[in-house]
Amino acid sequence: MIQKTPVMRICISCRKTFDRKYLLKITKDHKQGIMLQKGMGRSAYICKSKKCYSDSKIKKKLQKALKTFLEPEFIDIFEEEITSYDDYPNKGI
Ligand SMILES: [Zn+2]
Repeated sequence: MIQKTPVMRICISCRKTFDRKYLLKITKDHKQGIMLQKGMGRSAYICKSKKCYSDSKIKKKLQKALKTFLEPEFIDIFEEEITSYDDYPNKGI
């Protein structure tokens, strides 16, 4: 049986390593600007633990990681997106 090696990425908030499928990917797309879970360009990953996505500094951290300015509306969209997942592997941390 061939096992696929999971792609590991680091959460920009807690700096822990997770399988990429458990992370929300935020990409600064070359053409379309900031995108969630898609797009090509500089990307940052954040895990789905409440502690990380509701961090008051998360916007700053994302802006730093993506080297861009994020619109205030982005955080609303981002929170809505991340809270819509129910597969929190690290729930309760
Ligand atoms: Zn995290």
